[in-house]
Amino acid sequence: MSRIKPCPECGIPQRITKHNTWLPNGTILEDNNPEHRVVFIENDALRDTYLGVEKMLGVPIDNIITESQRRSTYESVDNALPGFLKPILRWTGTRPITRYLIDQAKLDGKGAVELVSFRRRKRKEDYIKLRIREPFSLPLFCGNFAGAMEAVDGREISITWEETAPHEYELTAHISTHDVELKERLKRRPARYKPGDTKLHRCEVCGVPAIMSRYAWRLDRGIIENKTTGRRMIIISTATQDAIMDELVKELGETIAQAVVDAQRKLIASGFFSREEIKEADDLRLEFAYRGLGNLVEIDFDHDHLFMRLENPCLNEMVAGLAQGLYEQASQRKSRLDWEIVENGDLVVNARSRE
Ligand SMILES: [Zn+2]
Repeated sequence: MSRIKPCPECGIPQRITKHNTWLPNGTILEDNNPEHRVVFIENDALRDTYLGVEKMLGVPIDNIITESQRRSTYESVDNALPGFLKPILRWTGTRPITRYLIDQAKLDGKGAVELVSFRRRKRKEDYIKLRIREPFSLPLFCGNFAGAMEAVDGREISITWEETAPHEYELTAHISTHDVELKERLKRRPARYKPGDTKLHRCEVCGVPAIMSRYAWRLDRGIIENKTTGRRMIIISTATQDAIMDELVKELGETIAQAVVDAQRKLIASGFFSREEIKEADDLRLEFAYRGLGNLVEIDFDHDHLFMRLENPCLNEMVAGLAQGLYEQASQRKSRLDWEIVENGDLVVNARSRE
């Protein structure tokens, strides 16, 4: 645990401040790589999105979530591993790869993970068992675990889990004797971002937005929380969320997009953000920017409408629902929503009063 040191000024773990860059264009990039965009968002927003979709469909979508996450993690770990290292890790990599999963979960707020036991002898009945407490999302973590192990081990993996105590689960990765089949690569959206000039007041020591000191990293629990409200936050890849959304739409149809919008609208309209957090347009710009949700370049808000234009948008359905929810919360009215990605790539959202 002591290996993860906080910034002496703002208290954010140095591993976060070194590896993530908050750009003035409303994006957060991991290792300054445009393909590795992340967002820093409320875990409830993610949870309610999936719950909303399940409710609409009346069936669980855990498998789709796990599969998309597995492919996404497989590709990023496979890309990150230097070629010469792969044959070595195939035999010896259990501890390094579980260490990677444990640290990643701890830093990104995904839960407290530990290695329970393993057997990797390149035979039948090989397995790795992990324990996770307070997981941010069990299906997403199962996908993370399976994808990372497959990239390192090269054999197909299936995951089973059981609840061993409240909020505590034991996950077993069963390693098959079959090699991982090469699947079609996930379609990634091209990472071209517009420049921006959002003024973020920054920590003088590490350079992350100073507002991030609102949040505490409880590293022993793998939890990031808002110091005032206790609300749980997570850092997740936008590419993975896009992949899950694409997969859901492909499997289940376009109505999924509406279910995601509605889930966010309901969450936000129920008073998710306090009036203290969002008093005026500049506050909202900042809230979008440090979460990495994009650069809010236009906002027009009145009792009968809310219009927004966001450069470098991501998680479009969620953000459209968020905007609608903000309007409904502030105006106490029901609304009609139009949103689209316009030709230049911006997200344009328009919520209008129905009353
Ligand atoms: Zn700092």
